[in-house]
Amino acid sequence: MPTKIGFIGLGNMGGGMAPNLVKAGFEVRVFDLSAEALQRAVEAGCSAAGSAAAAVQGAECVISMLPNGAIVESLYIDAEPALLDHIGAGALVIDCSTVAAASSRRLAAEAQKRGINAIDAPVSGGVAAAAAATLAFMCGGSETACEAARPILSAMGSNVFRAGDSGAGQVAKICNNMLLAVHMIGTAEALQLGVDHGLDPAVLSDIMLKSSGCNWSLEKYNPYPGVMASVPASREYQGGFMVNLMKKDLGLALEAALRSQSYTPMGALAQSLYGLHSQAGGSDNGELDFSSIQRLFSKPSTGES
Ligand code: NAD
Repeated sequence: MPTKIGFIGLGNMGGGMAPNLVKAGFEVRVFDLSAEALQRAVEAGCSAAGSAAAAVQGAECVISMLPNGAIVESLYIDAEPALLDHIGAGALVIDCSTVAAASSRRLAAEAQKRGINAIDAPVSGGVAAAAAATLAFMCGGSETACEAARPILSAMGSNVFRAGDSGAGQVAKICNNMLLAVHMIGTAEALQLGVDHGLDPAVLSDIMLKSSGCNWSLEKYNPYPGVMASVPASREYQGGFMVNLMKKDLGLALEAALRSQSYTPMGALAQSLYGLHSQAGGSDNGELDFSSIQRLFSKPSTGES
């Protein structure tokens, strides 16, 4: 099993993931453009590199957790020199960023030309799951490469799935998040309808949890303030999974649907509603948790804001 890991991207997610590799006994050399993020990782036992190229030098495995596909493709492939040119032949690249499947396939193909295996392994679970090593990884790549990644990913998560060949992890990720957006919106509008007719949202939630409307949003992430302790709805929608990231994932889902000429009317509506919500009432809601879509349906008279 590889022991030397280069890790690029120590933001909300990567900043929690890299230290879990150290705890599991891997030697982790990290890089991020942010000096503060780099310092936090050093305090958690990682060793800092002065550049992405230095972080991957001699690494048997390279993991990245970056904001988007443009950054992933630029860093690994299009930059002069490309990061792939600093990674040794035979190494394994695991890109955990959420990007278009086409970006992951391009990365895998470019890596292959240099004798490097690259897989996509986007995650489900947010910042708390990244810190607690309970993420779910959805991998796309050859069986051999995904199996080689398994023990490394297991140090950062509790579930590691192989969805299929290169890009398949990204497809699984956007399908899941499109469905998540749809049932979160449906849950929010149902709760508001009940409240508008005088129901207690906690009582209505209990009823739907035991009825056919039961779903993950209702069970684990109730969007109505005060119904469930320790979810973002009960702390003014702070923390959690940002509206901006949900918008990004819905954008990727719709791009994929266009490519395959699939019908995703619920996903398209969800994208519009999240777009509307992100700027609703002239405020910037992009950094609120995605369950704040509840506010789009609330009326001033209900006491909801
Ligand atoms: P983030 O913006 O907090 O972190 C990204 C980090 O990458 C930043 O620290 C940034 O400085 C660094 N970075 C950017 N360009 C770089 C470069 N060229 N070289 C080195 N470092 C660079 O983002 P995040 O919330 O950690 O999300 C990362 C990925 O995980 C995204 O693709 C996101 O869609 C996905 N994701 C996020 C969540 C979540 O809840 N935050 C959940 C699931 C998936």
